[in-house]
Amino acid sequence: MTEPTREQRDNLLEALVEICRNPHGRKLFHQTVHSGYSFSLDTPGKSSICLDKEHRIAMDRNLSYDEMIFGLIHEMRHSRQYINGGSDFYNFRKNDIKSQTICSRMMEADAQAFTMMICSDMAERGFAGPLEAFKKTFGYIADAYEKAPDNKMKAAFDAWYDNNDMKAAYEGSNHVNQLSFKPADEFTFERSLDTKQMADAICSYNGKNYLGDDVSYLETGKFIDLSENTHGFLNDKMYYRMQDGLAVDTSYKSMPSRTEPPKDNPLRDFLMDMIKKEQKGR
Ligand SMILES: [Zn+2]
Repeated sequence: MTEPTREQRDNLLEALVEICRNPHGRKLFHQTVHSGYSFSLDTPGKSSICLDKEHRIAMDRNLSYDEMIFGLIHEMRHSRQYINGGSDFYNFRKNDIKSQTICSRMMEADAQAFTMMICSDMAERGFAGPLEAFKKTFGYIADAYEKAPDNKMKAAFDAWYDNNDMKAAYEGSNHVNQLSFKPADEFTFERSLDTKQMADAICSYNGKNYLGDDVSYLETGKFIDLSENTHGFLNDKMYYRMQDGLAVDTSYKSMPSRTEPPKDNPLRDFLMDMIKKEQKGR
């Protein structure tokens, strides 16, 4: 791996300093480093990732200053989720598909809601760069946050699930990739997770779950739907697993179906590529 340049290192350091100028950002940074996490600049072309087992946040070294700031907030929030219990919850081999879908989507939606909250606070304090950069790709999350009269974090969290391309990309990388390329006998699907328990651990800030007491809505409609393609893939996969005498999951059958987005979808291809790289770290 080639070494990052002086400018790239300065970009990472200055972004961290900038995050620490914000009270929420400073708290997050402290939690991350006190949990033993370090930072690195990964090779060009790789997306940023929070590596749970290694306790390392590897950032894409080619990010702009503003992208580096919001990207760091997102990945540091993942470190916080892992420390709070996410390390145990997040388990493709052990969880049934419904639980794993709820878990992985929740972690992404929370990381984005949290990033939005800090970027918005930075903007209110006179530094709007990271918020503007975030809005370029995730305008729908920013929109929901800004329009919500109260509980803005929940509004941003819920908005994550409006983007079908994003969900399709994660289904491709999570369900399709994992079940296609990881050793088949490692999957047991034996565990069903409690959504409330998970939300209390992952969607928590200042000791409070900002989604509220009733999170049963995360098991309905857009929050739990799978694309028709993913459903088809899982049906085939489970049929052959049963033939081979391997553990079979049925939890996905109760998840509603979503009409597949068009095949040639550049945003989805981009996200798929990004997520595939992220999965390699797990
Ligand atoms: Zn993420």
